[in-house]
Amino acid sequence: MGILNEQAVLPAFLDGKPKLLLIDGKLVPAKSGRTFKSINPATGKVLAEIAEAGPADIDLAVAAARRAFEGPWSKWKAFDRQAVLLKLAELVDKHFDELAMLDTLDMGGPIAGTAAKRKRAVGLLRFYAGLATSTHGQTIENSMAGEVFSYTVKEPVGVVAAINPWNGPLGLAIWKLAPALACGCTVVLKPAEQAPLSPLRLGELCLEAGIPPGVVNVVAGFGEAGAALAAHPGVDKIAFTGSTEVGQHIIRASAGNLKRVSLELGGKSPNIVFADADLDAAVPGAAMAVFANSGQICSAGTRLFVERKVHDEFVEKLAKFAKTLKVGDPLDPTTQLGPLVSDTQLERVTGYLQRGKTDGAEAVAGGNRITDAALAEGYFVAPTVFSNVVDSMAIAREEIFGPVISAMPFDDIDEVIRRGNDTEYGLGSGVWTRNINNAQKVAKGLRAGTVWINCYQAMDPAVPFGGYKMSGYGRESGTEHMDEFLQTKAVWIKTT
Ligand code: NAD
Repeated sequence: MGILNEQAVLPAFLDGKPKLLLIDGKLVPAKSGRTFKSINPATGKVLAEIAEAGPADIDLAVAAARRAFEGPWSKWKAFDRQAVLLKLAELVDKHFDELAMLDTLDMGGPIAGTAAKRKRAVGLLRFYAGLATSTHGQTIENSMAGEVFSYTVKEPVGVVAAINPWNGPLGLAIWKLAPALACGCTVVLKPAEQAPLSPLRLGELCLEAGIPPGVVNVVAGFGEAGAALAAHPGVDKIAFTGSTEVGQHIIRASAGNLKRVSLELGGKSPNIVFADADLDAAVPGAAMAVFANSGQICSAGTRLFVERKVHDEFVEKLAKFAKTLKVGDPLDPTTQLGPLVSDTQLERVTGYLQRGKTDGAEAVAGGNRITDAALAEGYFVAPTVFSNVVDSMAIAREEIFGPVISAMPFDDIDEVIRRGNDTEYGLGSGVWTRNINNAQKVAKGLRAGTVWINCYQAMDPAVPFGGYKMSGYGRESGTEHMDEFLQTKAVWIKTT
C-alpha cells in the first residue's frame, strides 16, 4: 500500500493547471513560457507545474511594485495598512488548513506542526499590523539659536525584493511581507524553487484581503530570477534568507544602486549540556533542536557539547530517543519527521553521513537514508546522532541542513565557550544547566544572535532573531525588524 500522500485529497489550488506568477494583481505565465515542476518530496512525484520567472518577468514585477509604491499605496495611512494586514491575518487563519497542506505536500514538513505554524503565521501578521500604527519618528531638541524645531519621520524604504529558501515556505513569506507592508513598502517576493506553492496562494489571499495590485508580486523561479531581482536598479532593499554563499552574491549584486540589505543566513549552532542540567528535559530538547523539520532549520543546535561526566549516558539516551521518533508520511498526523525537501538535499545530507563515518565518527542512531518500501521513493533520512566527533571534522564545521547531531564531550566552561565560538557562524545557541551563573556566563560569552537557556528554538513575533558573523546581519521579528524597511527623514522648521 502506498503512503497517505498518494491517496490524499489535494487542495483545490492544485487543479492540474500550471500555477502562474502574480504580477501587478494579475496571474500571468512567464514571458518565456517556461515552467518547472514542483516535486512532492515524500513520493518523488510531480505536484504541479509552475511558471518560471526569468529576468523579463522580474522587470515587470519590479515596475509594478514601483508604480504601486508611488501610486495609491503611498496614500494609505498606517491605520489602513493595519486594517488590511488584520484582514489578511483573518484570511490566512481561515485558509490555514489548505496552506499547511500545500507546505506539507511541497516541502515535506509534517502536518502535525499545523497548529504551531498557524499560531506563528497569524501571530506575525497581527503583530506587524500593530506596529504599523505604533512606529513613529521623534521630536528632537536641538542647539540652534532662535525658534528652530526639528523632528524625524519614518518613511518606507521603497520596493523590497524578498528572496526566501524552502524550509518554511509560508512562514518565511509572511515574515518578510508583513513588516514590509506595515511600513508602506511594496514587495516582489521570490519563493524558493523547491516550495513555491503556499507563497503563490498567499499572493492570491493578499489580493482578496484588498491589498492593491502591484503591492505584492510573487515570482516563482530559480537563482537566475533571484539574481535578476538582487541586481535590479528598481529595487531599493533586499531582504534575503538563505545560504551564506548566496548571501555574499546578494551583497555584490546590491552594489549597483546601493540597495539596503538584510541577510538571514546559515548556521552551525552550539548546544551545550552541563552535567547539572535536567537531563530528562535536555535529551528531547537537544534532539528536537536538530530533528525538528528534519534538521532543515538554520538555527538547529547541530554541535552538541556535553559535559564529559555525563557525556556517554547522555548520548546513549539521545540515541534511544532518536530511534523512537516516527519518520514517515508527513500527511500522517502521528509523523514527527518528514522527508528532506529534494533529491539534491538528500544527496547532500547522505554525503555528510558518509563523510562523518569516513572521518571516524560513529553513528549511534540513524546514519542512513530510509529505504523501507513505503518510503523508498521519497527523500527520507533517519535521525542521526554521531559520537566520537572532533571539532575539526566536516560534520562538526559545515552546515548539513539535515537531521544530524554531532556530539562532543567538554570539560570546563571556558573551553566550551571557546569551542562554541570556533565557527564562522553565529545564529542560534543553547545551554542546559541548573546553575544560573554558568547559564549567564555562557549567554554572555557566545557570539550568536540568540541564546536559549533550558529550551531551544523558541521563537516569537516580538523577539528579534538574526545572526552574528557569517550568519548575516539585520534582525527579523521585534520592533527592530521595522527599521529594516524604513528610512529616517529629518525635518527642520525655522519660525520667526
Ligand atoms: P539558497 O541560498 O540556495 O537559496 C535561497 C534563495 O535564493 C532561493 O530562493 C534561491 O532561488 C535564491 N537564489 C539562488 N541563487 C541566487 C542568486 N545568485 N541571487 C539571488 N538569489 C538566489 O538557500 P537554500 O538552499 O534554499 O536554503 C538553505 C539555506 O538557508 C541554509 O543555509 C539555511 O541556513 C538558510 N536559512 C537561514 C534562515 C535564517 O533565518 N537565518 C532561515 C532559513 C534558512
